[in-house]
Amino acid sequence: MSVPLLDLKIQYAQIKDEVLRVTDEVYSSQMFILGKRVDEFERAFATYCQSKYSVGVSSGTDALLIALMVLDIQPGDEVIVPAYSFFATAGVVHRLGAVPVFVDIALDDYNIDPALIEARITPRTKAIMPVHLYGQCAAMDEINAVAKKHGIPVVEDAAQAVGAEYDGRRAGALGTMGGFSFFPSKNLGAFGDAGAVTTDDEKTYEKLIDFRVHGMRPKYFHHYVGGNFRIGALQAAILNVKLPHLDSWSEGRRRNAKIYHSLFTEQKLIGRIALPAELPQRRHIYNQYILRFTDGRATRDAVMNHLKSAGIGCEVYYPLTLPQQECFTGVPSSSDKFPNSDVAADQTLAIPIYPELTEGQLAEVVREIGKALG
Ligand SMILES: *Cc1c(COP(=O)(O)O)cnc(C)c1O
Repeated sequence: MSVPLLDLKIQYAQIKDEVLRVTDEVYSSQMFILGKRVDEFERAFATYCQSKYSVGVSSGTDALLIALMVLDIQPGDEVIVPAYSFFATAGVVHRLGAVPVFVDIALDDYNIDPALIEARITPRTKAIMPVHLYGQCAAMDEINAVAKKHGIPVVEDAAQAVGAEYDGRRAGALGTMGGFSFFPSKNLGAFGDAGAVTTDDEKTYEKLIDFRVHGMRPKYFHHYVGGNFRIGALQAAILNVKLPHLDSWSEGRRRNAKIYHSLFTEQKLIGRIALPAELPQRRHIYNQYILRFTDGRATRDAVMNHLKSAGIGCEVYYPLTLPQQECFTGVPSSSDKFPNSDVAADQTLAIPIYPELTEGQLAEVVREIGKALG
């Protein structure tokens, strides 16, 4: 039995008729950029995220970039980011000429360790950008407390965390702004690149709207230098079809996580594998289900190779920490020590968690991992 890491064709079969109907509407209207489908999606998405506003943009990366631009992040400014995340988190900071200041993560949730943030704040710190990695919110109370004390805005990188909750409040409504990705492999995936920014602040919202179209208001009058960060109507139309299903899909992932937990326990594999932990007061939406092989990298790699040859999809997110990336060698904090981020890069492996997996497939994945561990 082969088990892919992600199979979006099953999901598509559930919504195909509706997708074809709404995309045909867009084709017939010949209105492809922004417009009423985007407005409709933005209202629904803001409501879903318990935010006042949402602004659809061209990608998750652009969501983070536009958020930092709206905060007027300038060359030489510093932005605090975790040392372990997808590249875009630090890439957008660097692209503005600003300096990513890397902070180590905690190993219980793979998110920025809030206890290490305050020591890295300087007069140049202009934002803190926690990531809700793999679908579980970072420790937002602690992060917001430090941010408030120093008067620094918080931009949530919620690219992997649509619908994740912290104390009953949703990702994207926990900081000054939240950036989301609708890359196809995220829990809410478009049929191409797309993203969104959420905020509760009206002035910030107005600026996001302007920055999305080159800082323009009204037409051809430019107050700021923004960019083309527009979302297409086709993507919005598809997202409108998918959004009402999102909670049931996330519940499917949560159910699979529970099943994995019992299977790994039954097979007595817990000693050698650290399973993802859902921390108190959080709702994990499992964009990825991450195992950590506590024996070390050689064991992780052996399991990965075994699974691949057995036809089971798996992936290392991420093989290098951000400070280890070649392009960040010149960044001053890259030479600091990030022991937990190093461990995460060396020992973790993502296994299939998508909602349509059968119990037979889940059992097969666990069985093969048991075999690999011998
Ligand atoms: C996917 C992702 C992004 C970037 O989103 P794109 O839509 O691919 O540009 C940013 N941060 C994190 C943590 C991500 O997982």
